[in-house]
Amino acid sequence: MLRAASYESLSGSLAKSETSTRRNTRGKGGQSRRKESRGKMRAVSSSSGAFPTEQVLEVWRTSDAVAFDVDSTVCIDEGIDELGVYVGAGEKVARITKEAMEGGLPFGEALQRRLEAMAISRELLESYVKEHPPKFSPGIKELIAKLHAQGKDVHLISGGFRQMIAPVATELGIPSENVHANTIVFNEDGSLKGFDDKEFTSRAGGKADAVKFIKSTKGYKHVVMIGDGATDLEARVSGGADIVIGYGGAQRREKVVAESDWFVTEFDTLVNAL
Ligand SMILES: [Mg+2]
Repeated sequence: MLRAASYESLSGSLAKSETSTRRNTRGKGGQSRRKESRGKMRAVSSSSGAFPTEQVLEVWRTSDAVAFDVDSTVCIDEGIDELGVYVGAGEKVARITKEAMEGGLPFGEALQRRLEAMAISRELLESYVKEHPPKFSPGIKELIAKLHAQGKDVHLISGGFRQMIAPVATELGIPSENVHANTIVFNEDGSLKGFDDKEFTSRAGGKADAVKFIKSTKGYKHVVMIGDGATDLEARVSGGADIVIGYGGAQRREKVVAESDWFVTEFDTLVNAL
């Protein structure tokens, strides 16, 4: 696990790690040397903020798969909040979200209560999706196209709902089996039943479990998680994401600035580093 160091301590370690990594991986025969270096990347030192270490850059360039958060990362807005406003329950939903974030509500209960507050039906959800095409973050399409062109797998891991994320995945060319998110369940008459509690992201720590699942089932050596929130940082566990890249183009959260392995505010930065 690549733990983040304080910003102040970065410049010294960055200079040191750049020198040693360049010696190891950037000489003649870069391709074979790069392969050699992949097995050693678990034990590297850390970085944070706008200046990733060479090791973090190397994981970014050589990872087999990249997992993106959706709300305030791939898209500029928060899907569940937008849906709440659409059905006239914006304030109620925001209040429950706040209570959950302050630790007063278990994760699953917060999800159920927000769905109930919205009294969402299949029909309402379908008309919302029809009327609200995804609002993509600047540069995300180019980034995902480049990752795909390099043969990397791209996954979406979200606490939002599959029904709302499906058009996002389609437009980005991401197969539906690479979407890991919550599912709203309806009764036969189209009224709300609840949510599928077997989805990883319906539980606390679900993003870490989702990354562990894709890593073990697909046999990925290195997976990068990119997101704006604390739950994205949580994906960096043993067997989970090797590095977490914080994205602050939509929402800047100080915990993510401080604790991510690399914090960016533009996806172009990541395109240019591939
Ligand atoms: Mg998010």
